[in-house]
Amino acid sequence: MSESIWYVAIERAVNNNIPRVKSILERHQYILDARSRLRQAKLEVIRNLKEYVGMTMESVRRNGGNVYLAKDGGEARSIVEKIVGDRSTIVMGKSMVAYECGIRQHLINKGKEVWETDLGEFLIQLSNEPPSHIIAPAIHMTREQASKVIKKIDSTSSVQSHEEIAGEARKFLRQKFINAEVGITGANAISADTGSILLIENEGNIRMTSIMPEVHIAIAGVEKIVPTLEHAFLEVMVQSAYAGLYPPTYVNLTSGPSSTGDIEMKRVSPAHGPKEFHLILLDNGRFKTADDPILSEALLCIRCGRCHFHCPVYRVMGQRWGDPPFTGPMGAMWSYVVYGDSKPSLLCAHSGGCREVCPMDINIPKVLERIKYIAQK
Ligand code: SF4
Repeated sequence: MSESIWYVAIERAVNNNIPRVKSILERHQYILDARSRLRQAKLEVIRNLKEYVGMTMESVRRNGGNVYLAKDGGEARSIVEKIVGDRSTIVMGKSMVAYECGIRQHLINKGKEVWETDLGEFLIQLSNEPPSHIIAPAIHMTREQASKVIKKIDSTSSVQSHEEIAGEARKFLRQKFINAEVGITGANAISADTGSILLIENEGNIRMTSIMPEVHIAIAGVEKIVPTLEHAFLEVMVQSAYAGLYPPTYVNLTSGPSSTGDIEMKRVSPAHGPKEFHLILLDNGRFKTADDPILSEALLCIRCGRCHFHCPVYRVMGQRWGDPPFTGPMGAMWSYVVYGDSKPSLLCAHSGGCREVCPMDINIPKVLERIKYIAQK
């Protein structure tokens, strides 16, 4: 990607996103109250993380699901590989944690046919690039570039507009959803009391990924746990509002495999949806982070991506700042949490813009200062 293309792409994204978030927050002021309640609920979980992981695992099992605690990416890859077994076709809904663990590449290396189904992820899979933003992984691509990349699925394609590019991907992926035997998603929030996962989206790909295949695997960091289902709904409201995508087109709630109670009110499984539901909870540095009073603030991040657009460093450096999939101010924190890499923290200019706009009130510059301090000890 040339530097000038990055500047065009980021300017278009910033101009679209910032005014939209502002108008959402003006129109739906209850979001401001929701974000304070959510911060308190997430702090409660971080302070008692082991207990909440235990409660969540118990709840998932109660719903007929399978649940695992993976200590790192390697363990998560082995669990996924075992669940997939000899099934060969897999669709994936956008998941940063799946990227963190290298799930897609691992399955491809094992000879599986694997397709990302979120349009942005699909484009970067085709162009063999890392994601450049947590909610818009192909944000570095202009429309003109995306129309060239989509030709990889049909060299005769001459699509140009945003709508035509989306239509081309839709046509190609439809059959993949129908054929897929396994669907892999992330989770925006997990409720400890009910063992449910909530996923927000606009494309409909996550709904198809989690419903159509016979096996659904969800993989998420332990910091996605909140005490109750009510808090999980708060999280999806706040995340989508601060991402500039409120109301989200779809909110998907999954509590175990599909089931029916239609005969004599006896609940049996499966029904039309997946026969199996697996939740993989990932540590990979999160438990250690929870023990540090300053670093633990990073675990409050709900991945709304707002800090990126208000950061002068990200606006210049884009995906070159941080370790994929973690870019921008949140990425400078998370590159350290999961990869132990303190270098991204050194590039922070301490403008403080990120802190002002973060819905979780994370003092990002202070967390980055803490990382620098630990790294030079
Ligand atoms: S650090 Fe705050 S603003 Fe940035 S992605 Fe996370 S929650 Fe959003």
